[in-house]
Amino acid sequence: IGANLLRTVTKFPDREALIDVPSGRRWTYTALNSDVDALARGLLAVGVSKGDRVGIWAPNVPEWVLIQYATAKIGAILVNVNPSYRKHELKYAVQQSGMRMIVALPQFRGSDYAAMIEQVSPECPGLTEVVYIGTASWETLVKGGEAFPASAVEQAMASLSADEPINIQYTSGTTGSPKGATLSHHNILNNGYFVTETLNFTEQDRLCVPVPFYHCFGMVMCNLGATSHGAAIVIPAPSFDGAATLQAVQDERCTTLYGVPTMFIAEQNLENFHSYDLSSLRTGIMAGSPCPVEVMKRCMSEMHMGAVSIAYGMTETSPVSMQTQPDDDVAHRTETVGRVHPHLEVKIVDPVTGLTVPRGEPGEFCTRGYSVMLGYWNDPEKTAAAIDPARWMHTGDLAVMFTDGYVNIVGRIKDMVIRGGENLYPREIEEFLYTHPDVADVQVIGVPDTKYGEELCAWILMKPGATPLDSAAVAQFCEGHLSRYKVPRYVLVVDEFPMTVTGKVRKMDMRATTMELLG
Ligand code: ATP
Ligand code: MG
Repeated sequence: IGANLLRTVTKFPDREALIDVPSGRRWTYTALNSDVDALARGLLAVGVSKGDRVGIWAPNVPEWVLIQYATAKIGAILVNVNPSYRKHELKYAVQQSGMRMIVALPQFRGSDYAAMIEQVSPECPGLTEVVYIGTASWETLVKGGEAFPASAVEQAMASLSADEPINIQYTSGTTGSPKGATLSHHNILNNGYFVTETLNFTEQDRLCVPVPFYHCFGMVMCNLGATSHGAAIVIPAPSFDGAATLQAVQDERCTTLYGVPTMFIAEQNLENFHSYDLSSLRTGIMAGSPCPVEVMKRCMSEMHMGAVSIAYGMTETSPVSMQTQPDDDVAHRTETVGRVHPHLEVKIVDPVTGLTVPRGEPGEFCTRGYSVMLGYWNDPEKTAAAIDPARWMHTGDLAVMFTDGYVNIVGRIKDMVIRGGENLYPREIEEFLYTHPDVADVQVIGVPDTKYGEELCAWILMKPGATPLDSAAVAQFCEGHLSRYKVPRYVLVVDEFPMTVTGKVRKMDMRATTMELLG
């Protein structure tokens, strides 16, 4: 990763690399590399070396990117700590990863990171260094490195191998407690490169990043994807803000925009959505959870993102394994997750027998190749449950592959609803309800039922000013379009869904709340 950054610096020394809109700070590739080196020397000076775990706990601030490359240059393993973590989750990540240093923003909005670090410190004796971004301790770290020869960074880089671990990324925690995927330089650098290569990125591109750096979408698909092509990274706000995102696209003339579906939905539902000049955009990526066709179409027709791409992947696979291509037709680009990425294998298997299912039939999505993580950090059991002896990663996602190789993600195995012996995929029902003109967003879950085993419940977020829908209105809307057994029995109109910081809906929490409400 460090060598790849140097390659970009040599090719595009004066091009912009990083722009932090909130603070107005900007870096060219030369300036970025020089700050990264200063930081890398600082890390070496306090004794951080290859294989040591260094945590980063901050929303999207530019120092996140500096630390990412500084640790990569000396081979320290960066541990991405989720900005929404509380004390006990932090303690788990510090202890589980064996973290030696943590770099954090002292406070952000409601979160007092410094106080939480101080509270867990006595129980984490291995954590010997704490550095706070924007304070004297950051300056001290950098200053300390000045006494260290610049060649020390080169020496450290020379001792690295691409297959060594460089990053522990905890998964989103959508379906349970997060797991620490351990990834190598080779895993994530290649994936970041191929993701932007698919979109024909060049040094002319300017990528707006509203997704969190702590997640693979930010640190791999955005950061590594942009820097491997000499493109610029634009940070619109420290955490997701739809208006700030569109403003940054306009002011910084961004050519590309990424996001999870909930982010695009929020942007498209802004009252003054049409007042932003988004004409500089040419493409972008929607990924992370099922991408509603309507939202994709609005990206194309109202956001200038003509060639917008859908990507599918998971933290454990660096992350992307499927992606639509700019020259795919609109139907493939809005209704599938595309075809397999270069140098990867994919198969769809019966989750029980493990045998490949015929094309067109749903089964578990499995992938193999350079992108599969080294394993879950210090967890051989969970690793063995996910990666089989032939190195196939079993994703836990249900998918269908068509004869032309395009794939549809049907949902997570855990979210599939079995009602009266019939397998139901919430995704299909969500897609249909989403076409209701008053529906801003919708999520469908299964809840226990004595008669059918499970029943469907739809959580609906209404558009501003719309009359709330009830189960009768929903049933009427579905009449003639969805089979009776696919029509949700329960309908709840809500103001928001329980979400992860990565913008994913926590269906587990929805099920618990629904069960309480239904008694
Ligand atoms: P956890 O594993 O902790 O429960 P998570 O699976 O959400 O959380 P991530 O690694 O961030 O953690 O997300 C990967 C998952 O996101 C995939 O397994 C899949 O279920 C979902 N996903 C990603 N991209 C898409 C997509 N384009 N369409 C549908 N689902 C997607
Ligand atoms: Mg997962």
